Amino acid sequence: MRLTILGCGGSEGCPQIGGADGAGDWGELDSAEARNVRTRPSVVFSSEQGRHLLVDTGPDLRTQLVANRVPRIDSVIYTHAHADHIAGLDEIRILNRILGAPMPAYAAQAVWAELRQRFDYAFKPWAGGANFFRPVLETHVIEPPQVVDIAGLDVRVFRQDHGYISTLGVRVGGIAYCTDVKRLDEAAFLALEGVEVFVVDCFTRVEEHPSHANLAQVLAWVERIRPRRTILTHLGPSMDWGWAARSLPAGVELAYDGMVVGAG
Ligand SMILES: [Zn+2]
Repeated sequence: MRLTILGCGGSEGCPQIGGADGAGDWGELDSAEARNVRTRPSVVFSSEQGRHLLVDTGPDLRTQLVANRVPRIDSVIYTHAHADHIAGLDEIRILNRILGAPMPAYAAQAVWAELRQRFDYAFKPWAGGANFFRPVLETHVIEPPQVVDIAGLDVRVFRQDHGYISTLGVRVGGIAYCTDVKRLDEAAFLALEGVEVFVVDCFTRVEEHPSHANLAQVLAWVERIRPRRTILTHLGPSMDWGWAARSLPAGVELAYDGMVVGAG
């Protein structure tokens, strides 16, 4: 089983729109470092059997799947309904054509309610055959804590505190993907016990953010969970690659778009 980081940026991506000459606003990041170019947050878990579970459908989904040579998606899971995690939902239309069927998709009830409101056409009954002219989702409700078989993978979901709303943490085997999190509770620590690779939201270096962890918070979690490897994602405009390479403790590193990690 392996995990591919399709995108490790924050909600604005990097560089974000703007900059003095309009060529992009890099914040504190070195524009000459290719690993500071970051698309919106998403990952795919791939099984030994070649089945692919996509986590979220962000606005950069098309370019992410092509760049990372992901030929098909067998199932989708949504962590929450913020735009940087759902705005690429229309790309499921093409994934439907490849699959030849409605896309099995998993989310909490509250997330489905919001997605139905924003993309109502994707949830109408489908009787159009295999030539999908709109995205078609086959919805499954999951509520944490739960373990569910998705695309042949044992997927454990647990609740995370994202400030104003809750999100799903996702664990498959030895790899956990904890995006968009500010606080973890005891149930989350239980779900993370013995995890080998901890991929975790770290939007800011030192600033307190209302809905995302900063580095001090993440390092406190690492102290408790003790993963073999910690990979920081959902990176904001202070999380420079060169700074991180010089400064982070052993076993902790930044993600980059296209990074692939394996675990049992
Ligand atoms: Zn986000």
